[in-house]
Amino acid sequence: LEHGLAPSISVTVSSRTAQGLPKLMAWILERDLPFSLNFYRENELSASHEDMRLDEEKIIDGMLAAFNVIEKNLPRRSFLGGIIDRANLSAPHTHTCGVGQNYLVFDQNGQVAKCQMHIRKPVTDVHAEDPLSLIRADQVGIQNLPVMEKEGCGSCEWRHWCAGGCPLETHRATGRYDVKSPNCKIYKALFPEALRLEGLRLLKYQDDPEVVAKL
Ligand code: SF4
Repeated sequence: LEHGLAPSISVTVSSRTAQGLPKLMAWILERDLPFSLNFYRENELSASHEDMRLDEEKIIDGMLAAFNVIEKNLPRRSFLGGIIDRANLSAPHTHTCGVGQNYLVFDQNGQVAKCQMHIRKPVTDVHAEDPLSLIRADQVGIQNLPVMEKEGCGSCEWRHWCAGGCPLETHRATGRYDVKSPNCKIYKALFPEALRLEGLRLLKYQDDPEVVAKL
């Protein structure tokens, strides 16, 4: 920080850590750092840590407490792109992320996977002439469907901001890619509050053309 480098802080929120989120949020805002709040995703190496699994009430309470902290020290930069897990409230979109479309993950051996969570399940390698085409054509690994193809999302008012959540997390919880996120209730509880915060932020900086221009 003292040399002018501002790290972007990616926070993983789990049931174990949700209670401490307000304190961390205050630390981040005091230093005016960009941040994103992501939800813990269980994997085969973490399954034994049961207290990290997302308990809806704990996550919502922790996030709302963190939002209270943000409200008291609203940052100049917009947070809509990363304040609620993989949702992006800054622009309408149909897919949660770029997996299977425009995203490549390379390991140290030149293997290419669709997602960093599946780095041990590569689809191709750097010797392929067009690795991205192979990633896009893959029908076996993680399938990143558009939100309109997810059961339960089609008529949701948040669909073009949420896009139905992380496909890998949904598949882990349900065995399906074509269904809404297991975190749907958490998202729906938090989306209106995030928009309210952004409204307050815009009101606070309404006379600052730099802030408005960044929208
Ligand atoms: S996961 Fe829930 S909040 Fe997200 S688009 Fe689907 S129904 Fe809406």
